[in-house]
Amino acid sequence: MFTLDLKGKSGLVLGVANKRSLAWAIARDLHAAGAHLAFTYQSERLKEKVEPLLAEIGGAPLYECDVADDARVDAVFAAAAADLGGRLDYLVHSIAFAPREELDGNFLDTSREGFRIALDVSAYSFIRTARSFVAHVGPDGGSLLTLTYLASERVVPKYNVMGSAKAALEHAVRQLASELGERRIRVNAISAGPVSTLSARGIAGFTDILGHYREKAPMRRNIEPEEVGKAALFLLSEMGSGITGEVLHVDCGFHIMAV
Ligand code: NAD
Repeated sequence: MFTLDLKGKSGLVLGVANKRSLAWAIARDLHAAGAHLAFTYQSERLKEKVEPLLAEIGGAPLYECDVADDARVDAVFAAAAADLGGRLDYLVHSIAFAPREELDGNFLDTSREGFRIALDVSAYSFIRTARSFVAHVGPDGGSLLTLTYLASERVVPKYNVMGSAKAALEHAVRQLASELGERRIRVNAISAGPVSTLSARGIAGFTDILGHYREKAPMRRNIEPEEVGKAALFLLSEMGSGITGEVLHVDCGFHIMAV
């Protein structure tokens, strides 16, 4: 019998905005399994949402970090490693952004600046934070996880440039997994079905997407955020010790359907 005990493990969680965030669902499970966690928030505006959540898990180190700021990313990873006992074992990257106007009109009209921002914040930030993570990983290696969406592989109307960003992100998962495997660092992604979060509500027609999934997914329902948390725990922990470079769909099977 294998018991999941993450006592003595430490992780940095990027992307909690509020209690609905997928990053928070993941953090709750990592905490329940005994991991020691630190968190970041994007900007001062979100601090007041995140701080009370951390009280629910007995408090945790919390740092402001906009992932577009390289110097800040490096400083935050160094601070988190120091505050968590000298090293990092896990990284949860649960961050995406595209300017709102890019998520409503036609993909044909994607602006150069909108493309740059979406790819920078949603895909490059994973490569950059992985680099900072590797600088503080322990001798036993570690495990990284990011969050992606099916629009990387199939067309989801209005998802537009975020589909391009998720395709780049999934490529980064494979490329990083290939480079970091020898150092015992695993890199994986969860491709989650739609969940009503702050970011998701910025997608035009998101409520219709939820309904479509309920109708078409083999399990005839939407996923719960807790199901992303459980899958994350599996991939990050020793339970997933033989898995790297993987994109695991947690979507009640929606992705297998052709019609
Ligand atoms: P969310 O709004 O709770 O989380 C998105 C996070 O990204 C926020 O915490 C926000 O502050 C952060 N962020 C954006 N720009 C940033 C920047 N420049 N620097 C630092 N942080 C920044 O929404 P969520 O749905 O929990 O999204 C988390 C991840 O899950 C995203 O990658 C999203 O694409 C992915 N995902 C979401 C769904 C869904 O339906 N909710 C489905 C599949 C994948």
